[in-house]
Amino acid sequence: MPRTVLLNPGPVNVTDRVRQALILPDLCHREKEFSDLMAAIRSKSLKAFDIEKEYTSVLVSGSGTAALEMAVSSSLTPGRSMLVIQNGVYGERIGKICDIYQFRQHSLKLTWGEPPCLESIENKLKKNPDIEVVALVHHETTTGLLNPLKEVGTLARRYNKVFLVDCISSLAGDEINFETCPIDIAVGTANKCVQGFPGVSFVLFREKELPRLRKIPERTLYFNLTGYHKAQEAGGVLFTPAIPAHYALDVALDELIEETVAARVQRYANAAKFLRAGFKDIGLEFLIPEGLRSNCLTSLRLPKGMNYEKLHGELKANGFVIYAGQGNLSDNIFRIANMGDIKQEEFERLLQVLKATVRLS
Ligand SMILES: *Cc1c(COP(=O)(O)O)cnc(C)c1O
Repeated sequence: MPRTVLLNPGPVNVTDRVRQALILPDLCHREKEFSDLMAAIRSKSLKAFDIEKEYTSVLVSGSGTAALEMAVSSSLTPGRSMLVIQNGVYGERIGKICDIYQFRQHSLKLTWGEPPCLESIENKLKKNPDIEVVALVHHETTTGLLNPLKEVGTLARRYNKVFLVDCISSLAGDEINFETCPIDIAVGTANKCVQGFPGVSFVLFREKELPRLRKIPERTLYFNLTGYHKAQEAGGVLFTPAIPAHYALDVALDELIEETVAARVQRYANAAKFLRAGFKDIGLEFLIPEGLRSNCLTSLRLPKGMNYEKLHGELKANGFVIYAGQGNLSDNIFRIANMGDIKQEEFERLLQVLKATVRLS
C-alpha cells in the first residue's frame, strides 16, 4: 500500500530526515541544548530567505494562527488603526483578531477570490491618516489566489505604513522578494511549504521595527511579540515550547537551505503546472484564472453530479487526501495543494485516479 499523500494545505508530507528528528533526546527547555536549538532555528529561518541583515525572528509554539495573533496583536500603536485587506478566510481572520483586540480597523472587504484594486487601497490610505499598519494575506489559501504583494507593499511604503503580511502558506512556496518588497512583519509556520511538523510558527520582522514595537503596551500574556523576542535574544523562553516540532523545524530548515528557497519555489511551480495541465485535460474548471494562482494550491469546481464527500472518499481510498472548500464555497469547489515532499510519480498517479473518479460520476 503506498503512503497517504497529503494534498491539503498543511500539514504536509515531510521527508524521512525531518520525521527522524521527532525522536531526538528528551530535553528540558531551560537547558543550553534548547537554547542552542532555538538560536539555530531563528538564524536558519533568516538565512533561508537571505534576510539576516535586516530581520529578526521570533518562534512561538502553536499553529500558524498563533504567530499571526502574535504579530497582529503586538504591532498596532494605541489610537492608530489597521487596514486589513480581506478576500478570503485568512484576511477575515486578521480582521477578527483586530476585533477581538478592539482595534480600530479600516477593512477592504472583497468577494473571496477577488484581487484587491490598488486604487481603493490608495484611497483608504489617503483618506485615513490614522492607519498605521496595512495587513495582507499573500497566498489566500481559501481560493489559491496570490495577492499582489509587491504592489500593496509599495503603496504601504509610499504612505509610510507598516506592512504586515500573512505569508503562512506562501513562504518557500511562492516567490517573495524581501529586497524589492517592503515587508516589515512576515508571519510563517513550520508545517506548510517549509516542510516541518505542526507545533511551531514564527514571525520575521525588520529590526528597525523594534523601537516602535517596544512602545506598544502588552495586550496579551501568551502572544506578546517583543516579550518573546527579548526572551529569545537572551537564549530563554517564556513558556514550555513544543520541543519535537522545534527539532523537526531545525532539520526542515537545513533541507530548505540545501534545496534553496528559489529551487523549492520552482519545484512547487513545476508541480502546479503539471497538475493544472492534467486538471484541464480531465475537463475540470478552475476557480481562479491563470496568472492569479499561487504555486501551492488549486481550487477546482466540483464536477456536475459529484459531491465533495464522494470525491474525497474515492481519492482517500486510493491514498490521496484532498481538501474541501470553506464557507460558501464548500458546496462548489474542492482544493488540491501541492505543498510538501511529494514525488512526481505521486502527482501522476493522482491525475489517473482523479480522471477515473470524475469519469465515473
Ligand atoms: C494555514 C494558514 C493559516 C494558519 O492556520 P492554522 O490552522 O493556524 O495553521 C493562516 N493563514 C493562512 C493564509 C494559512 O494558509
